Amino acid sequence: MSSPIAAYEGVVGSAVLRQLRQLGEKLTGTRIVHVNSTREGGGVAEILEWMVPLMNDLGLQASWEVIHGDPRFFEITKSIHNGLQGHNVLLSGKDWRIYEDVNARNFERLRPVLEEADVVVIHDPQPAHLLQLCDRRKGKWIWRAHIDISRPFRPVWKTLRTITEKYDASIFSMAEFAQLLPHPQFLVPPSIDPLSEKNRELEPSEIEAVRSEYGLDPSRPLLVQISRFDRFKDPVGVIAAYRLVRKVAPVQLVLAGGGATDDPEGKAVLEDVMEAADSDPDIHVLLLPSSSHRAINALQRLSDIVIQKSTREGFGLTVTEGMWKGKPVVGGDVGGIRLQVVNHHTGFLVNTPEGAAHRIRYLLHNRSRIGEMGSIAREVVREHFLLTRHLRDYLTLMLVLSKDSREHAFEV
Ligand code: UDP
Repeated sequence: MSSPIAAYEGVVGSAVLRQLRQLGEKLTGTRIVHVNSTREGGGVAEILEWMVPLMNDLGLQASWEVIHGDPRFFEITKSIHNGLQGHNVLLSGKDWRIYEDVNARNFERLRPVLEEADVVVIHDPQPAHLLQLCDRRKGKWIWRAHIDISRPFRPVWKTLRTITEKYDASIFSMAEFAQLLPHPQFLVPPSIDPLSEKNRELEPSEIEAVRSEYGLDPSRPLLVQISRFDRFKDPVGVIAAYRLVRKVAPVQLVLAGGGATDDPEGKAVLEDVMEAADSDPDIHVLLLPSSSHRAINALQRLSDIVIQKSTREGFGLTVTEGMWKGKPVVGGDVGGIRLQVVNHHTGFLVNTPEGAAHRIRYLLHNRSRIGEMGSIAREVVREHFLLTRHLRDYLTLMLVLSKDSREHAFEV
């Protein structure tokens, strides 16, 4: 039986897989534990879903743990998240103590696996305090920040820095996010799984079924933004752009999202979206269950243009997903979207609803550009943003860190 990684040969070629297997051999048996705060919803869960089984397939012993918390904990971590992305938030000493206490309760449950691991990768701020509790750790601990912390609200970063600086290394998605920390920092952009339900090819009949299910008109252009209902994703700004385009073209808009279990703000944002949509029958606000991968896949394929008008964005997997489906992306000129959208070649970077509307109108009037930009977009993803490149970066980084520890052992 062929291994799961072998299935990717048709997409990336055999040389890429050979290199991954060679790296895997050097790390055979390495125990790596990933820890985050939600099993579903959002980009981190999306990545760990494939990364853990593929690391195992390459010979490592990988596992994925999730910390649990009550609603208050997730309100606090959401404020930490918002603060790191630049919002002025209020976090009291008591809030930080609750944050630490919840981490401590989780640590008691996870202690054996965290103490024994050779490498622990802590994703984002929610579980970051675990390191401080693990005084009998054997392995290297890496803090992996997925969010845009290029301009954090200083008081929040000041406290989080005291936690993250104790790590052996940190990983950021792009250079702009890196911080002054006393350990090696690595740049690893995220990626997508081209064979997952979210991204694999679909039968035309299945795509059409999704079109009818959501009442979308095949004869009119479709704009699609898939995102959690989060203010940084600016869904209300997308509606403003749609209204400007609507003055000259009969477009339809899909805003599809669901909640992540670690995101308590979604409900309020959804209410704002419904108000802005004002019962317009051509604005389809879809609340999708977390298992809707194929529906999202089909919606992205049905779109003429993918929108991701974020005002802050760690990376934006929805951008990668849209590009992989051969769509131009009109995206906010921020964070990881800038890494992916090559302005004027694979889509457009915009700062305002007016800017977004201007670019959407241009594409709708120059329809051949939609196909041209979409094809380039797909190749950019094949080259830079598929999971094989991501795995290679992680394995290489682990080799570097283990070499580093051997050198230190030698010095002692
Ligand atoms: N997603 C989903 N259902 C939704 C909204 C988003 O499955 O209702 C997926 C989306 O397809 C993407 C991921 O969640 O794979 C979102 O990752 P991204 O980096 O775009 O944003 P994040 O939510 O991590 O800020």
